[in-house]
Amino acid sequence: MAREGLPKYRAGQLFAWLHQKQVLSFEEMTNLPKVLQQRLEELCHINRLTVERKLQSQLDETVKYLFGLEDGNCVESVLMRYKHGDSLCISTQVGCRMGCKFCASTLGGLVRNLTPAEMLDEVYTAARDSGRKISSLVLMGIGEPLDNYDNVLRFLKLLSHKDGLNLSLRHVSLSTCGLVDRIERLMEENLPLTLSISLHATDNEKRSQIMPVNNRWHIEALLDVCKRYFARTGRRISFEYALIEGVNDSPEDAKALADLLKGFICHVNLIPVNQVKETGFSRSSRQAVERFQKLLENLQINATVRRELGSDINAACGQLRRDTGRTKV
Ligand code: SAH
Repeated sequence: MAREGLPKYRAGQLFAWLHQKQVLSFEEMTNLPKVLQQRLEELCHINRLTVERKLQSQLDETVKYLFGLEDGNCVESVLMRYKHGDSLCISTQVGCRMGCKFCASTLGGLVRNLTPAEMLDEVYTAARDSGRKISSLVLMGIGEPLDNYDNVLRFLKLLSHKDGLNLSLRHVSLSTCGLVDRIERLMEENLPLTLSISLHATDNEKRSQIMPVNNRWHIEALLDVCKRYFARTGRRISFEYALIEGVNDSPEDAKALADLLKGFICHVNLIPVNQVKETGFSRSSRQAVERFQKLLENLQINATVRRELGSDINAACGQLRRDTGRTKV
């Protein structure tokens, strides 16, 4: 606006149209003069995702979206209903280069990062299409958010902007496989979001086998940065632990996890692993999951089993994009 020799407040108006009212064209911006609408049309472009597929669970109110990006790539978002409101799980990259052995999203490698606009558009499009109010957000879809650090940070700033959607970062969780240097950086931003760490194993040998990132940063370095993250931000850390049959679900594993997290102000989220046919891993039995949780509770570690939502629509991370062969529109 400054470059066009226009008053500052025009920028505020444009921002509100884009991020509050979320219109899809400049001509809908009725408090902007017609000439300005036309000038914007010439100079700018409003990013827009398309709903390529939409699956609605018959079991609960989960809706899974396959969104098409303007370059023909696809990503997924999942809208879930909880007691406290609706939560959206969004993707942060097209594909992923972290290589976790149980995960569908990384099978084809990383294609590219999502832009801040594309991530915002996942939120806006899901809300518009479903007519539901999104009250919390998790960065747990396709991609490693901290591998797309600058764009994710800009996205979080826009998401929580008082003149935009104004979603408090207290209602946002960011999940990472453990990029220690980036957690270090994130700590300095002092944001009130919840950091979720995908731990999944308690010794380095096993964790390195299933999560290559562990070769770069061992569990000790990861837990050390988590301790400092908590000390600095005062935000309780959440640890994710996907239970894989015969790999990390024995009573000894539960005890080792409790030992590792002793004295930590944290929460453990147990996820019965979703079977992905290419990976060869199986999910732990319900008894094994319950036994694991009880053991942790007995050892004073706060643990819940993630409620399974949308199991009839393949709502787990990266599966729709692969199963439909729709890595491209
Ligand atoms: N890259 C980030 C966020 C995306 S994955 C991360 O690693 O945390 C979101 C969560 O789903 C992670 O905890 C991840 O380990 C887990 N996950 C991936 N594949 C899974 C599967 N097949 N079953 C259960 N959880 C899985």
